[in-house]
Amino acid sequence: MINEIVKILDRKLCDHCLGRQVSQLIYDLTNEERGRMLRNIVAMMIDGKFIDNSKINQNNFYNIKFRQNKEFGKDAKKEKCWLCNDLFDNLESMTKKAEVKLKKIDFNNFLVGSKVPDEVLKKEEKLWEETGIEYVESIKSEINREVGKKLGFLFNRPTNFKNPDVVVLADFSNKKINLQINSLYILGCYQKLKRGIPQSKWGTPGKYSTSVQEMVAKPLMKVTHGKGNSFHGMGREDVDARCLGWRPFIIEIAEPKKRFINLKQIQKEINKSRKIKVDKLKFSDKFTVVRIKSEKGDKTYRLMVDFDKPVEKSDLRKLKSLLGVISQQTPVRVMHRRADMTRRRMVKEMKFKQISKKRIELTVRTSAGLYVKELVTGDNGRTRPSVSEILNVKAIPKKLDVIKIESPKNL
Ligand SMILES: [Zn+2]
Repeated sequence: MINEIVKILDRKLCDHCLGRQVSQLIYDLTNEERGRMLRNIVAMMIDGKFIDNSKINQNNFYNIKFRQNKEFGKDAKKEKCWLCNDLFDNLESMTKKAEVKLKKIDFNNFLVGSKVPDEVLKKEEKLWEETGIEYVESIKSEINREVGKKLGFLFNRPTNFKNPDVVVLADFSNKKINLQINSLYILGCYQKLKRGIPQSKWGTPGKYSTSVQEMVAKPLMKVTHGKGNSFHGMGREDVDARCLGWRPFIIEIAEPKKRFINLKQIQKEINKSRKIKVDKLKFSDKFTVVRIKSEKGDKTYRLMVDFDKPVEKSDLRKLKSLLGVISQQTPVRVMHRRADMTRRRMVKEMKFKQISKKRIELTVRTSAGLYVKELVTGDNGRTRPSVSEILNVKAIPKKLDVIKIESPKNL
């Protein structure tokens, strides 16, 4: 190995870049320390004339005094590192810049990423090819670790590789620090107590004065100083339906400056509206968003069904045949945003109460993804069977409420 080291010392290398060539040898040393050790060993070999020094760049031994081989190193000058151009001299100032920026935000953990000039990376590749040493480390990896160590010490916060609150991007090409602040996720569940409120603000822009999303987001945006927000519900109810069962959701706040916030206080603030109610707010993560989006819990609905002509009580018993598999082609009213396909869903429980000859109250428990209004109307034969089809009347859904949403206990 020492031959390879001697070989690459034909150019000036700093301790970091030299040490990185044997980075995976011996624990508990920095690359800088490894580099200094190697340099001293090579210097001793030169001093004792154990090796041919004709190709060695003397500037590698600037400030080292040779005792035996007095000819060597006489003309050594201070020279910048061939590989990194003394990039590591900027480590302190870059860390300082990162510190200033990080002081302005809340974070539990962080990760450092870096950018170095392409030229440096190319030279590093070249060096690896020349030596063939397999114990190397990349310059970016060393920078990330060294800056990470310093910041970890300054803020007393751990590094998080999988899901950091903030990524410190150290760009050594222009000596700038950028923070990539990752979203804050808050899990909870909501009830929608009034009709005519869409779940997300994108539902029907301009048509409604507010949405569940906006009411939940408002106090959060105020305290977090986030840049924006997205709402991830475990399914959603129609705009004209109430949701009296608790529906799990996650609100995602983009680029929050503050994330150490009082969720109890936020909950109180949201619940002042009386249009919606939220509960069980807690901090969550992006992985739970995926889970919420893919949950397929049963839903229970209660609604009034009006008939265009009177139906005898004895005939209502036929409604039992709603139980079981429902074949449902994408409803006409949602076709503009959903693929046209036929899905099979279940009605698992069903009960009804006659209110008058032309009205019943219907309660159904269904598998997720069944469009319950079409279960009533039949959607011109696209949903089968349906209340309309079974009773041979025109059945119209009214006052739809979601009364129960089955959700996983361990959310
Ligand atoms: Zn270097």
